Amino acid sequence: MVIGVLGLQGDVREHLASLRCAGMEGRVVRTPADLAELSGLILPGGESTAISLLGEGGIFAALRGCVRDGFPLFGTCAGMVLLAAEVEGRDEPHLGAIDITVARNASGRQVDSFETELDVDGVGKKLCAVFIRAPFITRVGPGVRVLAEHEGVPVMAEQGNVLVASFHPELTEDPRIHRYFGAIAERHEQEVRRS
Ligand code: GLN
Repeated sequence: MVIGVLGLQGDVREHLASLRCAGMEGRVVRTPADLAELSGLILPGGESTAISLLGEGGIFAALRGCVRDGFPLFGTCAGMVLLAAEVEGRDEPHLGAIDITVARNASGRQVDSFETELDVDGVGKKLCAVFIRAPFITRVGPGVRVLAEHEGVPVMAEQGNVLVASFHPELTEDPRIHRYFGAIAERHEQEVRRS
């Protein structure tokens, strides 16, 4: 199984290292052709405005197709902003893959970055979570399952094959969240094979 990492901007290398650490192969994705033969795609943290400016007119059109087809997608931080159905202060969502509203930079400025431990439903206890100018989830649609909260605010969620986190699992040595996404991708692969 090969998992792609959208490589337009942000912490691409860190996600590739985490995938390796979780026992999976990763590949950088920049063009629609790079999506061939992948089992899932990670949208990394970075700057969502920069990533969307680089992606519109190119890879984003193909990603909208992935969203329609239920292809496994995992967005961390800026990647979560790109996957949300609504972004506060913006008229249009970017990719609209998961029925949540997000507020950008809700955890504060760069200097307010922090680490904490979270229990993540279905993944495990005491996971180190790094928040850097993190978006918070301010609305959760009926089909969305919240997997983790920080001080009562949802910070990780899933809907179908789409997984999002406000924080950066790729900046820790803990492979559990990448493995969890790998399991989503594997389940999807089996469903496709059966149909
Ligand atoms: N604040 C950034 C954005 O909204 C995300 C920051 C990050 O990915 N660490 O794009």
